Amino acid sequence: MLKGKTALVTGSTSGIGLGIAQALARGGANIVLNGFGDAEAPQASIRALGAEVSYHGADMSKAAEIEAMMAHAADRFGQVDILVNNAGIQHVARIEDFPVERWDAIIAINLTSAFHATRLALPAMRKSNWGRIINVASVHGLVASAEKSAYVAAKHGVVGLTKVTALENATTGVTCNAICPGWVLTPLVQKQVDAKAAALGLSNDEAKKVLLSEKEPSMQFTTPDELAALAVFFCSPAAQNVRGVAWNMDGGWTAQ
Ligand code: NAD
Repeated sequence: MLKGKTALVTGSTSGIGLGIAQALARGGANIVLNGFGDAEAPQASIRALGAEVSYHGADMSKAAEIEAMMAHAADRFGQVDILVNNAGIQHVARIEDFPVERWDAIIAINLTSAFHATRLALPAMRKSNWGRIINVASVHGLVASAEKSAYVAAKHGVVGLTKVTALENATTGVTCNAICPGWVLTPLVQKQVDAKAAALGLSNDEAKKVLLSEKEPSMQFTTPDELAALAVFFCSPAAQNVRGVAWNMDGGWTAQ
């Protein structure tokens, strides 16, 4: 279905982004990976699926590096047809204790980077009259939790940016939608499990159960593969008129 298309997934050396990149590769797309840490194993996992892959290590908090990443993708594959704005970080603290530098980093990486990548991807998508922009937001783009001010503000911003992007391109073949996961057991959430275990003197498994029971009625983590299947659907012809949605996959979190 995606043969001949190129997908760039930010923050795809790990977790949800890597799961989405692998699913798009299975669909036949060329993949541009981005993110910190080991880039070799993620690239090898894409190659093993028979897809072409490239990597750019741009720091998503820096506009100039995002510009260099988009130029790299265009040099390597012609243009970006599918943009998945996924890179994200978390920090948990009350507002009065929230480190200013963490606030700035979360807004830059979780929100502003999506604006930069989107503005740079749109001209070529508009020219070919086909494009898919998928923003990995969060249930925290729809509802709040205490001690996550920067993350909740950024993710609500991502949902807003998704709607504006969808509207500005509504009469074209370019769609934009958001995915809003509940708990997904990636390194980002494992840190919160570890903090809970340490604070309450619990084992890893007990801390996971406490985390789930606070928010997620299904008592199950959503998996990167499940989220990736939704991203693939957004890229399919059947989704051509799905525009500006914030689709939660959250075990009932926001149904309460
Ligand atoms: P993760 O920590 O496994 O992956 C984050 C990715 O972003 C990594 O590849 C990391 O290298 C990259 N990254 C971090 N800072 C970066 C920067 N400055 N520049 C470039 N890349 C950077 O986390 P994850 O759970 O897979 O999160 C992916 C997205 O999903 C995030 O936007 C997160 O907010 C969102 N999300 C996660 C959950 C969850 O429960 N895990 C729930 C809802 C939404």
